[in-house]
Amino acid sequence: MVGGNTKYATGGLNAAGTTSQADLGIEDSIDIFYEDTMVGGGNINNPELVRVLAENGAGTVEWLKGIGADLSDVGRMAGASVNRSHRPTGGAPVGNHIVDVLYAKAQEMEIEILLESEVIALLGDATGVTGVTVQTNSGNFQIDAKAVIIATGGFGANNDLVASYDPALKGYGTTNHPGATGDVIAFGAAFDLAYVDMKEVQTHPTVMPSNNYMITEAVRGNGAILVNREGLRFVNELETRAVVSDAQLAQTGASGFLLFDQSVRESLSAIEGYYNKGFLVEGETVEALAANLGVDPTALVQTIETYNGYVTGGVDEAFGREDMPRALSVGPYYAVEVAPAIHHTMGGLVITTQAEVVNNSGDVIKGLYAAGEVTGGVHGNNRLGGNALADITTFGRIAGEMAAESVK
Ligand SMILES: Cc1cc2nc3c(=O)[nH]c(=O)nc-3n(C[C@H](O)[C@H](O)[C@H](O)COP(=O)(O)OP(=O)(O)OC[C@H]3O[C@@H](n4cnc5c(N)ncnc54)[C@H](O)[C@@H]3O)c2cc1C
Repeated sequence: MVGGNTKYATGGLNAAGTTSQADLGIEDSIDIFYEDTMVGGGNINNPELVRVLAENGAGTVEWLKGIGADLSDVGRMAGASVNRSHRPTGGAPVGNHIVDVLYAKAQEMEIEILLESEVIALLGDATGVTGVTVQTNSGNFQIDAKAVIIATGGFGANNDLVASYDPALKGYGTTNHPGATGDVIAFGAAFDLAYVDMKEVQTHPTVMPSNNYMITEAVRGNGAILVNREGLRFVNELETRAVVSDAQLAQTGASGFLLFDQSVRESLSAIEGYYNKGFLVEGETVEALAANLGVDPTALVQTIETYNGYVTGGVDEAFGREDMPRALSVGPYYAVEVAPAIHHTMGGLVITTQAEVVNNSGDVIKGLYAAGEVTGGVHGNNRLGGNALADITTFGRIAGEMAAESVK
């Protein structure tokens, strides 16, 4: 099928200064988007790439809308100072929608897409690329091309490779699709391609340990909290993924419960998918939910009353959470057990601001471009939720334009 991790993306696509934000009265700026991304990435991001990301986000959103995307709902993802995660009306999953829109456009333009066709070698020499070798069940063949764009995604599903860069993640589960295996390292080897930040692998804190299904960060963005087995909050839920993951691993059982009420459920249609799949533990009251989770009811009631008090007062006195969009006071109440799993590989190919691929001598390889999770440098040591879809679409457009120009 078309689409890899992109088909799984649920929460949003980040951009600043869009018409969708203006329609909702949200004030944002390129500079705040840039700052949030740099701070979230531990300031080891490549600032020039982040600038391109921030400056082109709104144009990318309008371009996607222009070819049929619905990006009218805007919510908050962790690490963002303002609401800038764009998604379809009602907070529906965004990635699948974008793949559908791009696929329909490609079909309309009669662009040939080969499925079940694996690139196993990049062809060419020091003067530039000349094509690729493709492997299929019915044999191998070569595609001659003056330009090639590598968009093969990350390597989160290749645990051996992940553990070779970060041994602490050996044996971890992953949210990624099975094809996120980092093939570029093998098929690009002859070109001495340069890589950056390979040891920066992100875990996502809200993944169901039972099936590796990821619950989107937008649930927390829309008001959910995290509690431990003692029924207590233990972190600012909208801290970066690295911080929340570490806090969770320190709790009893190395996991926690993502907890919300009916009003959060109604605010985000993606939650209906989790409900229909039977993922959520439910209780008419907080006490009933506590009993179903095996958590002390008195402690949980106290935690939620205290949190609701913070919402009313506008200050989270316990953990400093800045965005608390709604109190948790409308039954039924819901919870799902969550723990960290490998989610995003921030490292990858070194690219220029024009999406050109660079080798270890620092030279641009003629005709070779890359975009998306296969590249490194945009996200530093921690990718913010919503920034990957911004990355793949913005740098994907640039790579496409550059490749088209270069073959003229
Ligand atoms: C569960 C989940 C939820 C997410 N939610 C969000 C979100 O809400 N917002 C956000 O911004 N980001 C989100 N992300 C991250 C984001 O989805 C990915 O970083 C992004 O979609 C990667 O896009 P890509 O085009 O680089 O790679 P992919 O979408 O993974 O596509 C790569 C494609 O290349 C193919 N491929 C790989 N190797 C080869 C080869 N050798 N030959 C031929 N084809 C090959 C793969 O099979 C795949 O089809 C989420 C990720 C996951 C896993």
